[in-house]
Amino acid sequence: MTSEPTAPTGEPLVVLDQVNKHFGSLHVLQDIDLTVNRGEVVVVIGPSGSGKSTLCRTINRLETIDSGTITLDGKALPAEGKALARLRADVGMVFQQFNLFAHKSVLDNVTLGPTKVRRKSTSEANKRAMELLDRVGVANQAQKLPAQLSGGQQQRVAIARALAMEPKVILFDEPTSALDPEMVNEVLDVMIDLAKAGMTMVVVTHEMGFARKAANRVVFMADGQIVEENTPEEFFTNPQSTRAKDFLGKIL
Ligand code: ADP
Ligand code: MG
Repeated sequence: MTSEPTAPTGEPLVVLDQVNKHFGSLHVLQDIDLTVNRGEVVVVIGPSGSGKSTLCRTINRLETIDSGTITLDGKALPAEGKALARLRADVGMVFQQFNLFAHKSVLDNVTLGPTKVRRKSTSEANKRAMELLDRVGVANQAQKLPAQLSGGQQQRVAIARALAMEPKVILFDEPTSALDPEMVNEVLDVMIDLAKAGMTMVVVTHEMGFARKAANRVVFMADGQIVEENTPEEFFTNPQSTRAKDFLGKIL
């Protein structure tokens, strides 16, 4: 697998500073400070409803925020227009439900963004898409429709589709939660390879094996707040807060 970090690792790539968001009276994100450095893998865990998906969605502005700032590679998130489209192209997203285009082939799912948004030629986009489908182990499925693939294969296509845009960071929102158990590892293995290759990743997951293997940092969220942030070793063996201890007690 080839590695594609564009710059030395370490400097801040995604920075959230005092981010707040409400849904009506629900204060879903409360004074969130979070820095994701280039090449870093940050795993976000926490109870259902704690704001993990909303946090991901604010980073590519699928959700607006009420106060605070979010910067990507040193630039503030644009609100609209072409700048927003460019930002979206820089932030890949992989969802629990795959969200592939049902009526397009696997190959077309991967080439659509690069041809429409990145203005790549069809031949160039096809070539790159086949490389990426090969990288995630589904090149032989390229002409099929998503529904003809297993869930694990579809999620690997979704990862290839995200990679095809050459994003600066990829956000994964519970990428294995909708999968049958026997398919979880084939997706996690692709994600572990990506992490090793230097991709910057924010991963919402309850897969503790993945967190231990691939995460540089674990962020624990509860009730709209970041309650704890630590290395996986420290977090899992020595959680500090009552809420983290309770949560780990339920899932481990
Ligand atoms: P998590 O991903 O940690 O389970 P979410 O970010 O999905 O949490 O949701 C956090 C809270 O915000 C939940 O109480 C949820 O019901 C609420 N919520 C999420 N999206 C919306 C929305 N579009 N409108 C209103 N409430 C929402
Ligand atoms: Mg969620």
